[in-house]
Amino acid sequence: MSETVERHEFGAEVGRLLDLVVHALYSDREIFLRELVANAADATDRRRFEALTNEALALPSDARVLIAPDKAARTLTISDAGIGMSKEDLAQNLGTIARSGTRAFSQALGERAAEGGEDQRPSLIGQFGVGFYSAFMVADRVTVTSRRAGSEEAWTWASDGKGSYTLEPASREQPGTDIVLHMKEDADEYLESYRLDHVVRKWADNIAVPIAIRDAEG
Ligand code: ADP
Ligand code: MG
Repeated sequence: MSETVERHEFGAEVGRLLDLVVHALYSDREIFLRELVANAADATDRRRFEALTNEALALPSDARVLIAPDKAARTLTISDAGIGMSKEDLAQNLGTIARSGTRAFSQALGERAAEGGEDQRPSLIGQFGVGFYSAFMVADRVTVTSRRAGSEEAWTWASDGKGSYTLEPASREQPGTDIVLHMKEDADEYLESYRLDHVVRKWADNIAVPIAIRDAEG
């Protein structure tokens, strides 16, 4: 590991949630795409809002969420031109559970699991949203490269979802975020454009930011 790479441990709650998400929600795992596209759209909206009072942050006119499967590399990349994240944002937003919604979800899921009520999972997901960590349902490694709008600096957050994550300096031409999912062996279906298209139509129909799916390569 190069000396510029920092390793950090996840908070205890993150570890618990990751475990629940990966093992308990298997049958609903296509919702990872809804969560990541929703985050990309939220980030785009946030940049648009901040640009109202700071012209320098204006969105490019072709701003969209791009979903790009690469069969040869076995990666799925979700990119946006949104507000982006600083190094501190990456550590705070992706390394801790700061959100009460996720904590409530984690609790409810744990309680249902204890009761043996497995059939309640889809409604729980609908109620709370699992968020970013749902990426680990389909990926065994996730890297997030992001540049905060208004900053020149970019950082890459990376994790295998097993207790720790790394942060290292990166570069990105424009502000925004790339989420790169290194797909699990059994998640091949999400490298197929038609499958991605189906999931987006099913779950992301109401998202106001344009969504493009690149044809699968490889
Ligand atoms: P939620 O969307 O409910 O806040 P998530 O787990 O989906 O929870 O995401 C956690 C946080 O990470 C978000 O609140 C946001 O601050 C940040 N984040 C995630 N994805 C992106 C993105 N594509 N661009 C900017 N920030 C993001
Ligand atoms: Mg979210």
